Amino acid sequence: MRLATLDGRAVVVTPRGTAVDVHTASQGRFGPDPMSVFADWDAFAGWARETGSDGVAIDPARLGPPVPRPGQVFAIGINYREHADEAGYPPESLPVTFTKFASSLTGPDATVVLPDGHVDWEVELVIAISRAGHDIRREDAWDHVAGLTVGQDLSERVAQLEGSRPQFSLAKSHPGFSPTGPWLVTPDELADPSDLAISCEIDGETMQSSRTSRMIYDIPELIARLSAVVTLWPGDIVFTGTPSGIGNARTPKRFLQPGERLVSEIEGIGQLHTTFVKAGA
Ligand code: ZN
Repeated sequence: MRLATLDGRAVVVTPRGTAVDVHTASQGRFGPDPMSVFADWDAFAGWARETGSDGVAIDPARLGPPVPRPGQVFAIGINYREHADEAGYPPESLPVTFTKFASSLTGPDATVVLPDGHVDWEVELVIAISRAGHDIRREDAWDHVAGLTVGQDLSERVAQLEGSRPQFSLAKSHPGFSPTGPWLVTPDELADPSDLAISCEIDGETMQSSRTSRMIYDIPELIARLSAVVTLWPGDIVFTGTPSGIGNARTPKRFLQPGERLVSEIEGIGQLHTTFVKAGA
């Protein structure tokens, strides 16, 4: 099942790529608020799998983040071995965890204003939580996953790295710095949700290309280790870390420029299209 936000309302995306309005098709039982479906995810997902309506065509520009107002946003700093090497951080016993403030979320077809500094790309698999839990066992972790989507952890490297302490959360939370979408895909739709091709390109030039099976902490391990500390809530999202190929680790370094178009893709889920403009443009 594929769940998207169209004009601010929850829609189910049909196999033909059309949208069925959740609130209308369920005669008011679910939606229209995209966050409301997480309150009773199992009932919603069961209903949504049965919905057979034809739906309406989707204008990508009207898609918002599939999870627009998560209660908590977790982001993992170092979760692919090659990226740990290029970033100069040895893997820790706990995943390096910060937040991207929710106001930075934007949809899958977005224009983002470049703030002062050096803005870098990080394509990431993002998971959404279906069921609350604390101290979730690794073997139960997939039961707490509503679905998977594509994310970009856009990062302004000057503020992130120049001070005496890293400023991950602030430097990664400018408006539009967290594109997600195009929709949330339930794990059963994917042949192997633990092994998906993940990549991004700028104006057709590949910048990152890996597989999610190369994570240091895989999805069950991330859920187990995060929930060993915090309680996960329905509708929370987790940015699960980026593979190697970021601009800050290149020689010479490369950062996003006005007019460039970043396409981020995960196999079986879809693409984000993000265009950059300078402030005041
Ligand atoms: Zn990241």
